[in-house]
Amino acid sequence: MAKIRILPDALASQVAAGEVVERPAALVRELVENSLDAGARHIEVHAQRGGIAMIRIVDDGSGMDREDAMLCLERHATSKIRTKEDLGAIHTFGFRGEALPSIASVSRFRLATREKEALVGTEIEVNGGKLVAVRDSGGAPGTVIEARSLFFNVPARRKFLRTENTEFAHVEQQLRLHAIANPQVAFTLTHNGELVLHLPATRDMLERIRGLVGDELASRLLKVEETTVHGITVSGYIGGPGMSRSNRQMQTTYLNGRPIESASISYGLREGYHTALMKGQHPVTFLFIQMDAQAFDVNVHPAKKEVRFHDGHAVRDAISRAVSHTLENAAKLPSGHTPAARPAPAATVPRTPVVPDSRQEQFAMPVAASSAPLRDIPAARPQPAGDAPAVSHRVADVLERIAAARHAAATAPVQAAPEPEAEAEAPQATATAAETDEEEPQEPKAARETESPAPPEYRIIGVLHKLYVLMESKEGLVLMDQHAAHERVNFEKFRRSIESGGVPCQRLLLPVTLQTTPRDADLLRQNLPSLNRLGIEIEPFGPNIFKVETLPAFLKADDPAAWLDQVMEELSSLSAKSSSLRLSEDAIATIACRASVKSNDVLSIPEFQALLKDLFACEMPYCCPHGRPTLVQISTNELERKFGRRAPG
Ligand code: ADP
Ligand code: MG
Repeated sequence: MAKIRILPDALASQVAAGEVVERPAALVRELVENSLDAGARHIEVHAQRGGIAMIRIVDDGSGMDREDAMLCLERHATSKIRTKEDLGAIHTFGFRGEALPSIASVSRFRLATREKEALVGTEIEVNGGKLVAVRDSGGAPGTVIEARSLFFNVPARRKFLRTENTEFAHVEQQLRLHAIANPQVAFTLTHNGELVLHLPATRDMLERIRGLVGDELASRLLKVEETTVHGITVSGYIGGPGMSRSNRQMQTTYLNGRPIESASISYGLREGYHTALMKGQHPVTFLFIQMDAQAFDVNVHPAKKEVRFHDGHAVRDAISRAVSHTLENAAKLPSGHTPAARPAPAATVPRTPVVPDSRQEQFAMPVAASSAPLRDIPAARPQPAGDAPAVSHRVADVLERIAAARHAAATAPVQAAPEPEAEAEAPQATATAAETDEEEPQEPKAARETESPAPPEYRIIGVLHKLYVLMESKEGLVLMDQHAAHERVNFEKFRRSIESGGVPCQRLLLPVTLQTTPRDADLLRQNLPSLNRLGIEIEPFGPNIFKVETLPAFLKADDPAAWLDQVMEELSSLSAKSSSLRLSEDAIATIACRASVKSNDVLSIPEFQALLKDLFACEMPYCCPHGRPTLVQISTNELERKFGRRAPG
């Protein structure tokens, strides 16, 4: 016998509904979550007019018996905290038994559900929180929930809805989030009767991601090997250097399987990407974090999106490590499968003849060894709005090609790669004292060695605007931004030197004195230890005056005073943006490197070759420390299309 009655607290539900279901996408979040919890293998989401006119979710999960179907519409009715285990694992996710009554209170709501073995199912209709009908239904096992005319009875709420397109974009994004975390579940999404997404079930996470983002992007993702630090397990896929977006839509992170956002995670990502991410850009991530449910709270956000970690630093650290390891390995291992090595150390690279005039002669430039066939990568397809400029895709193409070129390639043990700094330009080279730091344990580098076939060649064609080095590669035209490349090379020299105990420095013939503002003086004082570690020996010399005795050896600063001025200026503008005067060593190194590159330096061909070789010896050759690309490739295909030798597309 059906217990027909008016839900007791319809009004309270309407109020709560504003928090829990602020827009159609929120309904999708709640309802799909319920379907997943009910063990569904197939979930369909149908939306009309952005989901405002209708959202219908069809699942093949456990279904409910009549009593539960009635009960689930009561506030705080939930089946999920019956057992103790559930309590620990699910309760903390804010399972408050509020979603269904909230949705039912602000829509024309229909629930049809049937348990697998049940002869007959139940259908319940609720109109703006008022129970209208309960009847038998003969649907398939599982649950169908339909919400029409969202907020029809709460005009104040309806006002906050955006256009149908915007609302649907949110619906789709929400479904994507769920779909990524649940590849074993098939998802279908329609809008106004048209199929938008169809994702068959798969056991392979990457396959699911590919179904959502396309082959091109998926093929460039790096796998994050599952690692556990501080009891926090991180795994998933992330974009490599140069792959970024101007918004966070593709920065997806999951905690124990549920999509969440958290500042600690964002910081961790940023730290992990370090200089491989352009300022203001966001990474592409599909990152999964597993940790004890006791170690965080989800209820800070009624929509359950934001969590508060009890130990945010641990989370940040775990993520940052996972990301930086993945990026570092990717710079060495093409597509993460076969061990390959970095380019040969100086001594074993066959020397190219040094010929003085670039216009007469063209040079074969050994860059990296390869015997593997290069994969043909399709031209970048038009990207949805909000993407990073196309250039970063090209860089990623280059990255992938070069990575492929290095595939199975080979060189001597990597240990030999970093050359001893400082010879020529630093007659008095001395290592500055550097405390050994708590750097992450590095994997033994010699482990990456392999043997060496013939290298592929970049032929230097010339230089454009005294800045871009034009080179011919097998696939087309490669442009190298000479400044960006220099910055990357110098930056990594800094880093390696710091890691190995100190940056070799050159003593200036005459110490340079720096006159600063009181604020800049504070800034310098705060950062003296870091500056010293970077080979810049600087000490107070009077009120607001500093004396500089040494500079990093590999910087070719012919005018040290001007160089220091530039560094000072950038440091102070950087510090103006941060809350503390103490800057990170990397930030200082980045600035020092930028300042080290003079504009319009005319380099000779052998200098370019050396630069290119140094660049490819870097851990992250494809972008400068500010995250801008160092290399851009224009494929022959693209050129042929431009010249009409090939049909577009
Ligand atoms: P909560 O998810 O916090 O428990 P909800 O209001 O979202 O609260 O759902 C209430 C209850 O209704 C759930 O605990 C579950 O027992 C039941 N339920 C909701 N949706 C489904 C579904 N698609 N399949 C089976 N049971 C469901
Ligand atoms: Mg729920």
